[in-house]
Amino acid sequence: MIELDAVTKVYQAGKVAVRALDTVDLTIDEGDLVAIMGPSGSGKSTMMNILGCLDVPTTGHYRLGGTDVVGMRENALADLRNRRIGFVFQSFNLIPRTSAARNVELPLVYAGVGRRERRDRAREALARVGLDGRGTSMPNELSGGQQQRVAIARALVTRPAMILADEPTGNLDTTSTREVMELLVELNDAGRTVVLITHEDEVAEFARRVVRLRDGRVVSDARQEALRR
Ligand code: ADP
Ligand code: ADP
Repeated sequence: MIELDAVTKVYQAGKVAVRALDTVDLTIDEGDLVAIMGPSGSGKSTMMNILGCLDVPTTGHYRLGGTDVVGMRENALADLRNRRIGFVFQSFNLIPRTSAARNVELPLVYAGVGRRERRDRAREALARVGLDGRGTSMPNELSGGQQQRVAIARALVTRPAMILADEPTGNLDTTSTREVMELLVELNDAGRTVVLITHEDEVAEFARRVVRLRDGRVVSDARQEALRR
């Protein structure tokens, strides 16, 4: 379970304090598919950074699987991030001139997993995202949608508690957007928790729950019949 408890994040910009998140309470159940939406400046990136353990709240608590991240040291936070969260970014963030399989293996290199197991798990993750046999392809030989699927395989390979996707379809055309969202839905149907940050209604329609932010506060939080399933 993922739990934000009265989370406030204040940025000090010179003499001005910006309250990017303001006493946000939010609980995300295991196995949910949640879209976090809101206009520019509403606090989405800040929320992503906190959910992803890239930053900590100024006040309040963030619990990830029972562990409160507030007060954790940077290396413990990094460890939690690597073990529990699979990141997917708008710009894919694949390493160029490095094969798809090698990109997918990378988190396992950091986790100290042996070479043979890395290879097997990378192959398995690529198959899971529909890229069986494309392990030797370089990122620039793949379409945008395929590159994002490699990035999703990389996010999955550590078997994280949550996939955290920041505008995952922001660089994709309509067809690839649909493919990537259908893949995230499929992973979610298999039990994976997925949190996505988006400003596109067409993307949020795939979610089971939509949380809207405005000026750092949750202004609506609704379950929906997944419109696009
Ligand atoms: P969004 O992702 O929805 O556009 P952000 O989380 O980036 O929103 O920003 C929320 C508010 O916090 C905005 O007013 C933004 O300018 C401010 N903000 C974000 N990061 C910083 C920072 N590092 N320093 C100062 N202000 C920031
Ligand atoms: P997005 O396009 O995802 O909304 P933003 O442009 O809001 O992203 O922010 C990009 C990065 O810049 C984030 O890491 C955010 O924390 C930081 N940032 C946003 N606003 C400010 C600000 N006013 N001052 C300093 N950093 C900021």
